[in-house]
Amino acid sequence: MESAIKAPRGTRDVLGDESWKWTHVLNVCRGVAGDFGFSEVLLPIFEHTELFCRGIGDTTDVVEKEMYTFIDKGDRSMTLRPELTASMVRSYLEHDMRRAPQPVKLWSAGPMFRYERPQKGRYRQFWQIDFEILGVSSPMADLETIDTSMEIYRRLGLTNLQVLINSVGCPKCRPAYRDALKRFFESGPGLEALCETCRGRFDRNPLRILDCKKPECREITESAPAILDSLCCECAAHFEDVTRGLSRIGADARLDKRLVRGLDYYTKTAYEILAGELGSQNAVCGGGRYDNLAEAIGGPSVPGVGFASGIERIVITLEGQGAFLGDKPRVDVYVVTASSSLALEASALAHELRSSGIPSDTDYAGRGMKAQMKQAAASGAGFVCIIGEDEAASGTVSVKNMSSGEQRSIPRDEAASKLALWREERNR
Ligand code: AMP
Repeated sequence: MESAIKAPRGTRDVLGDESWKWTHVLNVCRGVAGDFGFSEVLLPIFEHTELFCRGIGDTTDVVEKEMYTFIDKGDRSMTLRPELTASMVRSYLEHDMRRAPQPVKLWSAGPMFRYERPQKGRYRQFWQIDFEILGVSSPMADLETIDTSMEIYRRLGLTNLQVLINSVGCPKCRPAYRDALKRFFESGPGLEALCETCRGRFDRNPLRILDCKKPECREITESAPAILDSLCCECAAHFEDVTRGLSRIGADARLDKRLVRGLDYYTKTAYEILAGELGSQNAVCGGGRYDNLAEAIGGPSVPGVGFASGIERIVITLEGQGAFLGDKPRVDVYVVTASSSLALEASALAHELRSSGIPSDTDYAGRGMKAQMKQAAASGAGFVCIIGEDEAASGTVSVKNMSSGEQRSIPRDEAASKLALWREERNR
């Protein structure tokens, strides 16, 4: 039936024929989080707008154009979270996690909101998993972050992923690079050759020009100077340690000199993981170090590194690669009755089976037996229990094995134990 009001553009209902895929991805993440020592935190879906303005940056597309911001009834500006890192750092500071042994390793998952132009793999409400390691500046934390994301994809069975890595330096070495970049854009093909958005970025944030996906800008940035050539000793050594670590753990990462995050609190490592199945929105994961973010949101200096990955994009990639996505949940037993006067018997049997840990369902819409059998087949149940007048009178139940077609009569009070046994045999 068509409903008059539809879900807002860029959002979608994840229905029962798909939601279990989300559960599968989240279960894998939960397993990896446990194995790597990350603890799960559940954070608010809306925060003070200021957190994102300061924690993501006023000159980013997210803050400039994509936030769902509203004034609440107390006249405060609130924003639906567009990402989790700023909230994670806020939570770390608010709960004084600096007093705990460092690093503090946190993870979370949930919906994010960005007013973007919707297309395949890009939505206005989408799910992210987010992992952060706070309180240490060691390159080993960067390495472990990348390893955590790779382990999630490995356990999910994702293949053909490409890891791109770069360093964005630090506030000590970045100004020299910014100047070199500006000189480069002013000379050669000149500013006029850049797209309009990038011309606007030139003064405010020239590094972001490297990020532009427009062909005219890509062509120019191809020969732009690489930030790696401008890194200070500390950033260069950090990058060297991360890349050495990656080859030590057998991770194949490619240097991408145009991978940048043009904000002062992003420091050193930046990385992205791409999947071909996604088309133009091909990033399945984005991460990096942000040693100056805590200060940017008004706290003390706390180094941090982390990544976020979109669940929709993970699911699209898994589907594209024909990978295992978990099993669609189904009941094991469907209880059918010969007449609606036996409905109570059916409900009582389903109740007993469920209490014995056997997922079961029954019909309470008063359908005829043929329709009930059809429903039973559609449910995917391995067994159907039939209660007819004869069975009710003799205290028995007829059990049909749906894969072999074999049917046998068993005492009603043995139904739960027998079905538990047969179910176990079948699952073996
Ligand atoms: P970001 O926070 O922009 O670095 O994004 C991290 C990851 O979240 C990306 O690599 C995507 O997998 C996912 N993502 C970001 N924006 C969207 C969106 N609008 N729709 C779906 N997934 C997204």
